[in-house]
Amino acid sequence: MKIYVQTDIEGVAGFCFRENRANQSYENVRHRYRMYRLLTNEVNAAVKAAFDSGATEVVVNDNHGSGYNIAFEELDPRCRIIHGRNCSGPHWLPLLDSSFDAMILIGMHAMGGTPKAIIPHSKWEVNNGEFYLSEGSMAAAIAGDFGVPTVMMSGDDKIAAEIGEKIPDIEKVIVKQALSPYQACSMIPARACAEIAEGVKRALARRDRIAPYKIKGPVTLNLLDSSSHAPPLTLQGEAVTADTINDAFMNYERAMQWTSFDLEDMIEGYSFP
Ligand SMILES: [Zn+2]
Repeated sequence: MKIYVQTDIEGVAGFCFRENRANQSYENVRHRYRMYRLLTNEVNAAVKAAFDSGATEVVVNDNHGSGYNIAFEELDPRCRIIHGRNCSGPHWLPLLDSSFDAMILIGMHAMGGTPKAIIPHSKWEVNNGEFYLSEGSMAAAIAGDFGVPTVMMSGDDKIAAEIGEKIPDIEKVIVKQALSPYQACSMIPARACAEIAEGVKRALARRDRIAPYKIKGPVTLNLLDSSSHAPPLTLQGEAVTADTINDAFMNYERAMQWTSFDLEDMIEGYSFP
C-alpha cells in the first residue's frame, strides 16, 4: 500500500500567524522553529499510523512556502520526503501518480475569503464560479484524476467543513477551532498527534469505500487571491481550460511568476530557503 502525504503548515494545531521569513529577530526565529516542530510531529504521527496500517511506502510532500518546514531527521525512517523549493520540480504534487493507494492531507487551511478562518488563502474558481476549491480540495481533485482517493485530512474546522462537503466519506481530524483570522483554540499538540494517528488508521481501514474526488472535464480554472491574502480577492491570471483539473491546474500555474516547473538548467543560481 502506497500513501502520499500532502502537507501544509497553516492548519497545524498551535499555528495562527502567517510565517515571516524576513524577520530575523530571535523571537520570530524561535517561533518559526517551534511551528516547524509542531508540523513535523503531526506529519510523523500520520506516517507512523500509515505504516502501522500496512503501508509499504509513504511519500511526504513538504509543500508550505520554502519547502523546508519539516525536520525530516525526526521522521519515521521508513518514509521518504519531497523537499526543496516548491513548484520548481515536475509538479505541485511531485511523484504523485496512479500507483498510490491513498492521499492524506495534514495541516490544511481554508480557501481565500473564508470568514473567521486562520490565514485563508488561494481560492480556485472552477468553471467561472460553478464552485471553488481550496489548496486541500485541489490536491484531492488532482489525486482524483489519478484515481487516488483522499481518505483523511487534518486542519481547522473551516477547511474540514469545505473538504467534508466535497468528500463526505473523508476522515476529518479537526485539530483547532478558528475563532477569527487571528485567533484559534487548538488541541495541545500531543493530543492532536494522537487524534491524527487514529484518524489515519480509521481512514486506511476503510479506504476502499472512499471514492476518489473527481471533477468532470473539461475544466475552466482561475485563481482568486491578493498579495496579502486579505480581501478583496482578485483574479490572479488568465482563465485556463483543459480536459482535466490536473492539466488545467498545471497549465495555470506554469503561467505564474512564482512557479518554475520542469526545470532542466539552473536559472538563477542557488539561495538558501
Ligand atoms: Zn502554507
